[in-house]
Amino acid sequence: MGIKLDGKKVAQKYQEEIRRFIKLKKDKGQKVPGMANILVGNDSGSIYYVNNQNKLCNKLGIDVRSIFLEENIHEDNLMNIIRKLNCDDEIDGIILQLPLPKHLNEAKITSEISYKKDIDGLSNLSTGKFYKKEKCHMPCTPKGIINLIKSTEFEIEGKYAVVIGRSNIVGKPIAQLLLNENATVTICHSKTKNLKQICKNADILVCAAGKPKFITKEYIKEGAFVIDVGTTMVDGKLTGDVCFEEVIEKASFVTPVPGGVGAMTTTMLMKNLCEELK
Ligand code: NAP
Repeated sequence: MGIKLDGKKVAQKYQEEIRRFIKLKKDKGQKVPGMANILVGNDSGSIYYVNNQNKLCNKLGIDVRSIFLEENIHEDNLMNIIRKLNCDDEIDGIILQLPLPKHLNEAKITSEISYKKDIDGLSNLSTGKFYKKEKCHMPCTPKGIINLIKSTEFEIEGKYAVVIGRSNIVGKPIAQLLLNENATVTICHSKTKNLKQICKNADILVCAAGKPKFITKEYIKEGAFVIDVGTTMVDGKLTGDVCFEEVIEKASFVTPVPGGVGAMTTTMLMKNLCEELK
């Protein structure tokens, strides 16, 4: 029987560090980090995420400015808002909630964010620096995952890691972070053949497909470290990609949904905000 890895508990440790960092700044009379989050339109998932960010900012003593924009905003206007925030000394981090409405070019707009303020790590410059192992803000979910694994005694080096999913926001960057830790990594996707056989060999299995409960115990190697990134609403319940109850019988660690990876993501955003890039 494996261990249920409590993401909230691990996140709280990071939150304590951030709180201490902010307190020290205040005690020294220095400026506290300021964050701007931009929400275009009314996507319910994004509203939920912005509310969570704002709650955490308030809890940690971080200044936050929320900017709510009309769904039909013109691309030039949004670009101008970002350019102004890039030059605003009160703002150290900018996060643009994704997905954007269809008429807006996500890659172009996220790349307008100055890389020093790109705390979500999704601009072209941040992405280039990330893959070249240069100093930058890392995307928050992969950063949360790698820190979750490192919060345990589990050694990554030399292990065989399988990542299901190849998105720019989760699959590819977590594969890169595992590679940086000297794991041997395979990335799988919807066209992968023999997925079950590949997963069955994995010492570390990261599931980021967004397919509720499709990873059963037949996909799991005895003692594997299983990270469930998937979050899909099923009958009003947030559901992961992994059948938790049966997988934990075979795995050494499994992250639950909710309370696993998701609990780390917003905290990593705040951590990025506090890590100033020169
Ligand atoms: P995405 O862009 O939709 O990517 C999903 C990936 O899974 C794609 O690469 C897709 O392959 C692959 N895939 C889909 N079905 C598959 C199957 N049956 N077998 C193998 N691969 C399959 O999603 P995402 O943004 O990476 O997010 C993935 C999941 O994580 C979602 O549930 C999302 O809500 C969740 N998420 C959670 C957090 C958090 O903080 N907890 C953060 C971000 C995302 P193709 O490339 O071939 O289409």
